[in-house]
Amino acid sequence: MRDHASRHGRTPIFAANWKMNHGPTAAAGFISQFVQRYARHTDRDVVFFPSALAFGAAYAAGQSTPGIAFGVQNVHSADKGAFTGENSAPIAKDAGAQYVLVGHSERRHVFGESDEQCADKCAAAERAGLIPLLCVGETLAERERGETHDVVVRQLTSGLSKLAQRDITTSVIAYEPVWAIGTGRNATPADAGETHTVLRTALSGLIGDRAQQVRLLYGGSVTPANVADLLEAPNVDGVLVGGASLEVDSWLSICQI
Ligand code: PGA
Repeated sequence: MRDHASRHGRTPIFAANWKMNHGPTAAAGFISQFVQRYARHTDRDVVFFPSALAFGAAYAAGQSTPGIAFGVQNVHSADKGAFTGENSAPIAKDAGAQYVLVGHSERRHVFGESDEQCADKCAAAERAGLIPLLCVGETLAERERGETHDVVVRQLTSGLSKLAQRDITTSVIAYEPVWAIGTGRNATPADAGETHTVLRTALSGLIGDRAQQVRLLYGGSVTPANVADLLEAPNVDGVLVGGASLEVDSWLSICQI
């Protein structure tokens, strides 16, 4: 894996998005095994996104291990109130979360979340002291129409539009082409690198030189077999992984690349 110097000091992130998998028992068992076998605690950050109900068990099993952090997969944009079934950013923070996923393609396309809602959720995360991990990515139809760069820059700009410049610097962005998620068809390192460079340039327009500090992850059918090549691509500072993060062996081989 490229060293930090060629990443302008950006510490790589290996993020596991467990989606609606692993209940409390499985999550705790997974984390206990992982922390016993995981050996790289200082040069990268590993972040787990368990389901909301498994969060407490996962966090209890891993919270004291250096280099490991936890996040939630979603929050409501309000800090509290009459929103049955929802969780707020302050509740996630209180439970031990440091990160929150915002704008994952399943939230956008299955649950109909808009750019505006993503912006409100990023702002809610920031108010609570959580780091938003904003996901952007084009559909296959958008890609075929040549709209990839316009789509990801629009999602990036509007998702971050309610954050102060300082808070944009600490946020994390994931480029996840919708056609690559859960399909076994990852973007090539060249495609990922090209889109990441477009995102970095757009960030420069928002926050100038501080854009060099923002970590940009790639997600979409990342596996132990393709992770090394993806991490070599320009401006790829880590990965956001679904399917291949669900088994301890596979996730360890990704995180210890
Ligand atoms: P995948 O999912 O690794 O299973 O493609 C990635 C994601 O949805 O974050």
